[in-house]
Amino acid sequence: MKKKRSERKSTSVGKSPKKDVSHWQNEQIGLGECRDIELEISHSYSGQTVAIPIHVRRAPKDGPTVFVTAAVHGDEINGAGAIRELIMDQSLALVKGSLILVPVVNVLGFERHSRYLPDRRDLNRSFPGSHKGSLASRMARIILDEIVERSDYGIDLHTAAVRRTNFPNVRGDLDNAGVKRLADVFGCEVTVNERGPSGCLRRAACELGVPTFILEAGEVWKVESLVLEYALRGIKNVLIHLGMLSGKIIEPPYRTVIQETTWVRADHSGFLQFHVAPGDLVTKDCPIATLTNLLGHPLESLHSPENGIILGMTTLPFTAPGEPVVHIGLLSRGKKRIEKIVDELADDTLHERIRGDLSSSIRVVEPEDD
Ligand SMILES: [Zn+2]
Repeated sequence: MKKKRSERKSTSVGKSPKKDVSHWQNEQIGLGECRDIELEISHSYSGQTVAIPIHVRRAPKDGPTVFVTAAVHGDEINGAGAIRELIMDQSLALVKGSLILVPVVNVLGFERHSRYLPDRRDLNRSFPGSHKGSLASRMARIILDEIVERSDYGIDLHTAAVRRTNFPNVRGDLDNAGVKRLADVFGCEVTVNERGPSGCLRRAACELGVPTFILEAGEVWKVESLVLEYALRGIKNVLIHLGMLSGKIIEPPYRTVIQETTWVRADHSGFLQFHVAPGDLVTKDCPIATLTNLLGHPLESLHSPENGIILGMTTLPFTAPGEPVVHIGLLSRGKKRIEKIVDELADDTLHERIRGDLSSSIRVVEPEDD
């Protein structure tokens, strides 16, 4: 039966009682208190306890509980850096509500610099999970029961997969009123309307009545300073909107919602000369990259199939037939409006600084023709 996707209502009937953020295993966390929690999720072969470190921060007043998670894919640690900043920021005074901060969810993948768990499963395809299932399934169940069930809203921080980078974009199910409201207020220029693949954390959390969306930004194995700045700005925007922090919401220069995305793939192997960078706007048929063999003989010119924005791309300057080169968010309308806004942006805006920074991972040159 299709579950109703809507914001959690405090008066909702038929749901199991929500767990309380003030009570964790044998620990009580009072209003105005902070506490580090070790959430036990498994045991190693040698019998050591495997636990997820969690920081809980409660305001002096009751209010919404928000979880912020990172490294559900164990190699995607930009978000871990952002959450670490939040935890260490003594000036972050919550006015009301509680924060559940989890810098590394997939601790077993993280130990191996890997997206995956040691059983080669993807934790972010294993939700809602089961207490009797595989390692991934058991972990997923504990995360839902212990973190998501204590929360009213969730933000899950991701990066591009290995050898790729992403221009910051939030992704969530915009049919869910809570996701739509919070994804909008996060303040990304680009929101991708996407429920997420079966088994992902955000989808399972929404089905439990906890509106959750993800940020996709930057690369694996790095804490990139501008991605960190971008993530912190968005998280604080959400907390200000919920009345949990005082301050002023910082608006992005533009907002656009992407309903459809596509990958441009190569048909040959060889050396890629890029003509676009993450965050660039592209016009239908404009050159994306030129492919030559290793001795420089032209093989193929890749073009944009539609008007769009570069959401992500490979950082590897070599490719083979079928490999994804550039991920484009399709813009059915509004491209001219965005172009005009971006053209007038000052170089010191976060939008321009992060575009400049992400493009430094690749070499971009003007195409020879066109
Ligand atoms: Zn991820």
